[in-house]
Amino acid sequence: MAESVVIVGAGPGGLAAAMILARAGLRVTVLERLDRPGGRTSSIEAEGFRFDLGPTFFLFPLSLERVFRACGRDLRSEVPMVRLDPQYHLIFGSGGELKATPNVDRMIREVEKLSVSDAGRFRQFLADNRRKLACFQPALESPFLGWSSMFSWDLIKLLPLLRPWKSLNSELASYFRDPRVRLAFSFQSKYLGMSPFQCPSLFSILSFLEYEHGVYHPIGGCSAVMEHMARVAEDLGVEIRYGEEVEEVLFRGRRASGVRTASGVFSGDAIVINADFAQAMTRLVPNSRRRTWTDKAIAKKRYSCSTFMLYLGIEGQYEHLSHHSIYMAADYERNLREIESDHVLSADPSLYVQNACVTDPGLAPDGGSTLYVLAPVSHVHSNIDWNREAPAFRRVVLQQLQKRLGCSDIEKRIRFEKMVTPADWESKYHVYRGATFNLAHNLGQMLHFRPRNRFDEVPGTYLVGGGTHPGSGLPVIFESARITSRLLLGDLGKDHSFVDVPGSLEVPEYVG
Ligand SMILES: Cc1cc2nc3c(=O)[nH]c(=O)nc-3n(C[C@H](O)[C@H](O)[C@H](O)COP(=O)(O)OP(=O)(O)OC[C@H]3O[C@@H](n4cnc5c(N)ncnc54)[C@H](O)[C@@H]3O)c2cc1C
Repeated sequence: MAESVVIVGAGPGGLAAAMILARAGLRVTVLERLDRPGGRTSSIEAEGFRFDLGPTFFLFPLSLERVFRACGRDLRSEVPMVRLDPQYHLIFGSGGELKATPNVDRMIREVEKLSVSDAGRFRQFLADNRRKLACFQPALESPFLGWSSMFSWDLIKLLPLLRPWKSLNSELASYFRDPRVRLAFSFQSKYLGMSPFQCPSLFSILSFLEYEHGVYHPIGGCSAVMEHMARVAEDLGVEIRYGEEVEEVLFRGRRASGVRTASGVFSGDAIVINADFAQAMTRLVPNSRRRTWTDKAIAKKRYSCSTFMLYLGIEGQYEHLSHHSIYMAADYERNLREIESDHVLSADPSLYVQNACVTDPGLAPDGGSTLYVLAPVSHVHSNIDWNREAPAFRRVVLQQLQKRLGCSDIEKRIRFEKMVTPADWESKYHVYRGATFNLAHNLGQMLHFRPRNRFDEVPGTYLVGGGTHPGSGLPVIFESARITSRLLLGDLGKDHSFVDVPGSLEVPEYVG
């Protein structure tokens, strides 16, 4: 009989691992506490409106394409997507705006509107980051199993290029003098829940990826990608059980042998944990079974910021609003300090708004549209009592929409509304401290220092998703699924060569 694997969580990492492991011939059962696939990438559907709960930027499709190809499927034909141009509209509270476009000549003209001297540096920025990504890609695709991996010659050779001693903002200062232009190429660190002033310089590859490989909108939203993945996984023989919350990991001796839910015991030759790492460890695995990642050690780690969310079903459509718009607080550094160090709410919060119906009208009933509104805020902290603060902060966010983004009469046009606060991320979605982007991505919590894909501390368990190597964000989460699956299959003595499908860094052309 084929070996069996139990996967805790049908988030993007859990689904990608399920597909690969089923393709390898294992019996795979996915247990998901929610009623649908995707986790933080699932959908919200109500009154004819459909929203993504979390991710809305689908970047670097090649990463998921490799997972599909390994399973004998073709992402491009199974999941319709549109490449966005402009990719997003940036509005600076300090004055000025920029419509980011992958068309290099047009982008140079956009940068010129903010700073003539910086515009000439854009091509060099692209060329340098193209080289940087190519050099760092092997590290993103390999596991970090021990200290020796940290001191491997390949990684040491990368140091001059990666400049780990520099922050992203100071790295960008060597290209761009205007702080707004620097922000345009560094705000992407927020995808990792980090400030560009603290985030390692390596992450200049994030904005590069957008320009080189595109910003995509999957039709139906990123959550639709998860539904396609769940369908493909089931086609490959995976059993996905929804509404099935894992309550504890079970052991035979030192080794994890299964999990228990309210409906019974699920045994497996290996257990893959996709649930939020810190939450799953502290809830599902007894503290006494962990030597390094104890409850105390987990509590001391640095965590990403959180997000305050409004999902608004709107009467009519704000035609002037791009698919993605980002308002950056007039004093952006202060806004970041308030989020990351002071843990207080800002009077002038930055805001990201998705007006997806301009691209994908099927997301709303006739005569309506959806607005997805995200304000980065502190993770759960004693300084902010969300029960008390949420109504007032909601008003501030609606005022920002009206004043900064031109959404006139917003209150009057709301037909459906749902709010998610950091406290909700923690209690309803089981995200530790509501830190939506997991453990922070400072160098002390990356590579070897991040919880490992083969989680040796609890033999028989493996991790997949944003809490393990390489980190948070969909493209790297899909990479984590390939890394983890290779290790697990190798440990069971199974062939995993099919996981390494050739994949050059070509730019795929998607048509919606
Ligand atoms: C608001 C927001 C915006 C984001 N925007 C982007 C973006 O634009 N682009 C991007 O690339 N990334 C983005 N991300 C980051 C990241 O890609 C997503 O958070 C992603 O969903 C994380 O995937 P994951 O595999 O780590 O697992 P998760 O999505 O966290 O899924 C884990 C699953 O485990 C389940 N689970 C937990 N505990 C149990 C249990 N005990 N038993 C059974 N099941 C359990 C959960 O219900 C969940 O379904 C965003 C995140 C958020 C929150």
